[in-house]
Amino acid sequence: MPELPEVETIRRQLAPVLAGRVLEGVEVLDGRWCEPAAPAEVEDALRGRRIERVGRRGKYLVLELHDDVHLVMHLRMTGNLLLVHAENDDPARQHLRVRMTLDSGKRLLFVDVRRFGTGAVLLGADARHAYFDARLGVEPLSPGFTGDALRALARGRRAPVKSFLLSQERIAGVGNIYADEALFRARIHPLRPVGALRPAQLGALRDAVVATLESGIDSRGATIDDFRHADGARGSFQDRFLVHRREGAPCPVCGRPIKKLRAAGRGTYVCERCQPKPRARRPVPA
Ligand SMILES: [Zn+2]
Repeated sequence: MPELPEVETIRRQLAPVLAGRVLEGVEVLDGRWCEPAAPAEVEDALRGRRIERVGRRGKYLVLELHDDVHLVMHLRMTGNLLLVHAENDDPARQHLRVRMTLDSGKRLLFVDVRRFGTGAVLLGADARHAYFDARLGVEPLSPGFTGDALRALARGRRAPVKSFLLSQERIAGVGNIYADEALFRARIHPLRPVGALRPAQLGALRDAVVATLESGIDSRGATIDDFRHADGARGSFQDRFLVHRREGAPCPVCGRPIKKLRAAGRGTYVCERCQPKPRARRPVPA
């Protein structure tokens, strides 16, 4: 699933091409994309509007349109946004869910094999804020994501640190890849209860999350299976993974084989020498 660096890569690619252009045509070919809104309603709200800015919040991409209209899209498992010339657009293209035609003659296609991707039209900044406030916590590449902020979020929580990192309502945009990589950098085992981490460990985790996401953006995201850039190219962060998907390979720090385990219901990769396991609870004396 695309995470923050993948969506930010798409945003950076689309922004110069889309900003200032008018959406001349919008065709929602798969009603599931915009449920519970009807496709015609979404098409009418978007058609003829100028795109003022391409934004991002967590894993959501936002087209900010004239008159304070916002199209908020989520790629979920297998969604991709592809930019093509109108003359190259095959109308029978497989897995096409939404087609947007720009006044420049280009088209933006939402293509999605598994059809979990979504689009929602929000009218006004208040509606946009309410939508994100209900779903997303702090933006990890914003100035608000400090060591103190992370300590406040973690305080008193017993959840394993990996599931904490994956909770979008606490930290927006971190998914399975970047959580594994950040925990390895911070030398924290994914099953440690987040509220039991020392302040210095949480400070290291904050820095590791930021460094990992920035490194992902530098590599233009990771392509493991479906993720593609708007021009169809692949990201390269998968070539720089330290532990993720490297079961059995030597740890880049100590050489011990990387182990795969399950945390937060996800395949999780660790070096249990660099990331010591949580201590088993002592038996209560009789
Ligand atoms: Zn190691």
